[in-house]
Amino acid sequence: MLNQNLLDNTLHISKGSFKLEKINNISTNTLTNEYCKKQYKKKDIICSKCYSFKGLNFRKSMIPLLEKNSKLLSESIIPWDNLPRIFDLYFRFDSHGELINLNNIQNFVNICLKNPKTSFTLWSKRFDLIKKFFDNNEKPENLILIYSNSKLNKPLYKLPKYFDKTFNNVIKLNYKSYYNQNTMFIAKKDITKELKTKIKNDYESYKNNFDKDNKINCFQKCIDCLLCYTKNNVKTIIEKTK
Ligand code: SF4
Repeated sequence: MLNQNLLDNTLHISKGSFKLEKINNISTNTLTNEYCKKQYKKKDIICSKCYSFKGLNFRKSMIPLLEKNSKLLSESIIPWDNLPRIFDLYFRFDSHGELINLNNIQNFVNICLKNPKTSFTLWSKRFDLIKKFFDNNEKPENLILIYSNSKLNKPLYKLPKYFDKTFNNVIKLNYKSYYNQNTMFIAKKDITKELKTKIKNDYESYKNNFDKDNKINCFQKCIDCLLCYTKNNVKTIIEKTK
């Protein structure tokens, strides 16, 4: 089955699971994406915590299929007849991986055009590629572009050109990190019992109010939410990263 899938020249469609349950996707190989490899090494950005880099090491059987997609999508424009027919209402591009080049965008756009009844969503950090492509091409009505903000704890409220929403991550500290953050400039001898109790109480309040204070609006399965898969007035999506 796997070999057959690898031999033909059609794109592999993956079934969504966990948070993406019931939302199918066409994805690419994060592990061979030059941009992803570079970003993964950077500290203090969301790419250093990339679920795909970690996850694919546990799901090795997926790698050849994603690599096949990477090659098909980036090496040339896929003939119309070889593009998939999709019968889903909502569909995701790049649940794994990131845009590779302009061919990749053209092929995604063609899939949107071939399937006008499906709403497609693509998350990307490649503002450079998106701008270059859509400066010269029309964006399909059924494509929602989400700018994936790599900076942590800095939600982006301004939309980059051609994007419909931004996706942001904020980190909820565990007690140890919260304590360390609140005592890092205090001499050890000055950390009294009272101060420790105060920090403990403050942490409870921080923990309980975190979602509200940080305007978290991404917390369920996508199929039960659809904020990113429909056109609506929510332009900034904020998820809590633990
Ligand atoms: S906001 Fe909703 S649709 Fe978007 S990623 Fe989060 S759960 Fe999924």
